[in-house]
Amino acid sequence: MEQKDERRFISLKVKWALGTALGSLIIFFVVVMALFSAFTQNLFHQERQLLNQGMTNISRQLGTANAPLTKKRISRLVDPNASKSQIISGQDYRRPVVKELSDGHLVINIYNPDGKNILSTGPYIKKPHFTTNRSVHIAQGPDHDVLVGQMPIYGQKNNQLIGYLQVENNLDAYTRSYHQLELVCALALCLVVIASGLLGYFLSLFLLRPLDNIHDTVKEISSDPTKDVRVPTLNRNDELAELTTMFNEMLDRMQRYIDQQTQFVSDVSHELRTPVAIIQGHLEMLQRWGKDDPKVLNDSIKATLIETKRMKNLVQEMLDLSRAEQVEINFRNQHTIVNDVVHQVFNNFKMLYPEFTFRLDDDLKEPITVDIYRDHLEQVLVILCDNAVKYSTDDHKEIHLSLSRGMNTVEIGVQDFGEGISQENVKRVFDRFYRVDKARSRKKGGNGLGLSIAKRLIEGYHGSITLESSVGAGSLFRIILPIIEDPETKK
Ligand code: ADP
Repeated sequence: MEQKDERRFISLKVKWALGTALGSLIIFFVVVMALFSAFTQNLFHQERQLLNQGMTNISRQLGTANAPLTKKRISRLVDPNASKSQIISGQDYRRPVVKELSDGHLVINIYNPDGKNILSTGPYIKKPHFTTNRSVHIAQGPDHDVLVGQMPIYGQKNNQLIGYLQVENNLDAYTRSYHQLELVCALALCLVVIASGLLGYFLSLFLLRPLDNIHDTVKEISSDPTKDVRVPTLNRNDELAELTTMFNEMLDRMQRYIDQQTQFVSDVSHELRTPVAIIQGHLEMLQRWGKDDPKVLNDSIKATLIETKRMKNLVQEMLDLSRAEQVEINFRNQHTIVNDVVHQVFNNFKMLYPEFTFRLDDDLKEPITVDIYRDHLEQVLVILCDNAVKYSTDDHKEIHLSLSRGMNTVEIGVQDFGEGISQENVKRVFDRFYRVDKARSRKKGGNGLGLSIAKRLIEGYHGSITLESSVGAGSLFRIILPIIEDPETKK
């Protein structure tokens, strides 16, 4: 009973699309994460540097006071009129303090040495912590992290502690950029996943089209095996196009095989009809009035026996033919020395038909091995020699056999000087049940299967069989078989 697969059907296209989407998601995610962290780290580093620079600038400028900071001293130092850049101590460039104080994202608080706030550009987020160490650290702000820088201020000349500085960067710009980048990356990721999924789907739709075609064709053929449908071939050259071609070739072969079988059955029944009809005729005749007539009885039994023998031969030949079609599977790697077989058949025929002149031209200088089962080569030679005897004329009873070597092949010739075969029949004599002169061949006991058995056997061993003939002059059959290098014969 047919077992149905319980698993859900998921199209290859969907699997392909999901696979590509997942693959690109992983790759893109890794790349985006690397870029994202590099970019945000860089941004954060810049913010930190800015804060550090600001702290250094402010503390240096305030350090010029050289006395504990007071509101008055501070206001002089942060005078808006002093907005020009000042060159202090040689090449050192300093931004005016006022500029640092006006930078929106920095909150600056300055304290006197007693910790009293004497200047503030905004409320501080982190409580001031008065130490003699300079520090920059991240602290928890109301909405997000903030950067806090703290340091003592020393007088430039006397190196005396004159106050404290606290600079805070609320990191608003950085956080904004961070979130924007996050959004852009998430959107890009979604877009890439969707685009690669779609691309994968449409690509597989295009690439797997031959599979759909094969599927449709198989479905059509299984619903009606006699239908002559083939998979449409595509104008491309890849594995699936190859599969399509191979599939079509397989269908062609199967079709040919089915046709051959049908033809064979019809040929066989046609061939059997005549002997069966003859036997039936004789038996009916005997039943009616032949039993009492010894002559009729004798003739009928004789005729019946001849037809029975013919039927037996026919059945045997049909069996040989069907076996000949499977030599490739059943008789692999059979090594036979051609010289021996040809000589043996030659000697046998010479003995069997003393009235014939047999000649063998053997041009082979050494034993030649071919990949053929010995009995099959003998069977083919017997078929050809039998025909040569059968179709020789009484005035020229001569048969020539020849053996010669080609590049990688060995050639066996069987020639007679009999009635010959006309050109249009030369092509057809290898067909099953084909006889040039049906009545005469039948008289000689032929079923028209000998040459087709020979051809099938030889072709099964990758050889070929050809025929040259002309009416009245005789026929020459040539068998060509590939030679194999046999180490045994070499020895
Ligand atoms: P059959 O058993 O009838 O001989 P084959 O297949 O051997 O069948 O041969 C097919 C036909 O080819 C024969 O009926 C005959 O007419 C013709 N034929 C075969 N061999 C020869 C030959 N050597 N000379 C002339 N005709 C031949």
